[in-house]
Amino acid sequence: MSSTLYWHRHDLRLGDNPALSFAVEQGAVQPVFILDTTNDNPWPYGAASKWWLHHSLESLQESYKKAGVALLLLAGDPVKILPKLLRDTKATCVVWNRRYDAYGIAQDKFLKESLPAEVKSFNGNLLLEPWQIKTKTGENYKVFTPFWRALSAQSISIDPLAGTPHQIKPFSPPPEGLNLNDLDLRPTKPDWAKSFEPHWTIGETEAQQKLDKFLDNTVIAYKDGRDFPAQDDTSRLSPHLAFGEISPRQIWYATQAQLSAHKKNAAYTTNADHFLREVAWREFAYHLLYQYPDTPTEPLYPKFKAMKWKKSKKHWDSWTKGQTGYPIVDAGMRQLWQTGYMHNRVRMIVASFLIKDLMIAWQDGATWFWDTLVDADLANNTLGWQWTAGCGADASPYYRIFNPGLQSAKFDKNGDYIRTYVPELAKLPAKYIHEPWKAPPLILKEAGVILGKDYPEPIIDHATARDYALQAFKELV
Ligand code: FAD
Repeated sequence: MSSTLYWHRHDLRLGDNPALSFAVEQGAVQPVFILDTTNDNPWPYGAASKWWLHHSLESLQESYKKAGVALLLLAGDPVKILPKLLRDTKATCVVWNRRYDAYGIAQDKFLKESLPAEVKSFNGNLLLEPWQIKTKTGENYKVFTPFWRALSAQSISIDPLAGTPHQIKPFSPPPEGLNLNDLDLRPTKPDWAKSFEPHWTIGETEAQQKLDKFLDNTVIAYKDGRDFPAQDDTSRLSPHLAFGEISPRQIWYATQAQLSAHKKNAAYTTNADHFLREVAWREFAYHLLYQYPDTPTEPLYPKFKAMKWKKSKKHWDSWTKGQTGYPIVDAGMRQLWQTGYMHNRVRMIVASFLIKDLMIAWQDGATWFWDTLVDADLANNTLGWQWTAGCGADASPYYRIFNPGLQSAKFDKNGDYIRTYVPELAKLPAKYIHEPWKAPPLILKEAGVILGKDYPEPIIDHATARDYALQAFKELV
């Protein structure tokens, strides 16, 4: 009978977990999570992610407890901890689900070659491995639609429900680790994450329930509804996916099952298909990150490296604090601050504003999102920022510059989203809420808004900024 250490990373669940299923079949299992406290990881957990991680580990501890085993928590350098743990426990095998970022790949490769035990790795986080999808000529896909066609044509062949272990044989004696609070993941003074709490229930059970509810009630309006930030028409599964509380295969299977059940319902089919298409963007992002490991910091197309970005602390502070004077931008940045999440349409608007209006490097924006998003995901974040900057795969062309006022009028017509997050403008009529500086003085007065006092004047003129950005980008292409 062998004994297996299972090292958790971005896979904080028991269901559809190939590494765990394998370990359980072998005999005794010790699941372990190691908080990497070295300075080597260029993308350590951001502050919002740490908050989520605390609760996700708490939920995972509960699941393991029910299955008869304790989750071991440790902190330090995994490269030093794992060999010691192997020696102490006399485990014969180590398993994990694969990572796809450069740091993770290098660490896993080193450990696979150096650990004095059998090491096995699995695909627990993607529909298909990056090396399983290539063009007919063996190239990597750099355009989404053909990637999506190729992905949909493949069979994704695992039954996610087959392997949820309900009883796990523990190590005897079990190794001792840290308490969850010792990992010090939650903010204390001040506890800025308090405002996140009403928005999220964290863990595997919630992720499954959220998916089921979404497929039963919400997906039917997804294709068009997903663009309107005041509507609750998206799944909000992103942080659960980022921490691996749910797998993309579970989402794929559940959606396919619903598609079969609703075969004759054209509206359901269109919307659920579109949902799968968005899940495939995540897949595309991971494939790109794997093939182009420098892209979290370097533009995929090198000609964009020469861009002369501006460095204005004043503009940066206005953007991060949601005080730019552009209500849709400010609403997005404040949604992020208050909830750890931002709607996808608004992510594109605020990113475009930072890059093209303020001419601040997309890498700075990506770093800010990394720290503040509860769904921070290196692959998706990189894709989102490079797409908006126009320097990545299948990106928005550089000359497409979002006009915040027009975007706002189109996607938040009545200003409901703005009113939620920028309450100082709540009394402005919809006609003026998108560009309050255009409102007549009397309307502003009636709404109780003094521009420059209650709410900022725009920090930049969009039309002038647009011309400048167009010229700067044109010089590079
Ligand atoms: P749904 O619309 O319900 O989609 C379901 C799932 O599909 C998502 O959870 C996500 O995993 C995937 N997905 C949807 N849209 C995209 C997309 N455009 N790109 C990649 N995957 C997608 N997403 C993250 O998960 N983490 C990030 O750090 C992140 N950073 C972003 C930065 C920028 C500048 C932009 C423009 C987008 C970013 N996204 C990121 C993508 C997208 O905004 C979120 O995935 C989405 O808003 C999550 O909400 P949801 O789960 O309700 O999405």
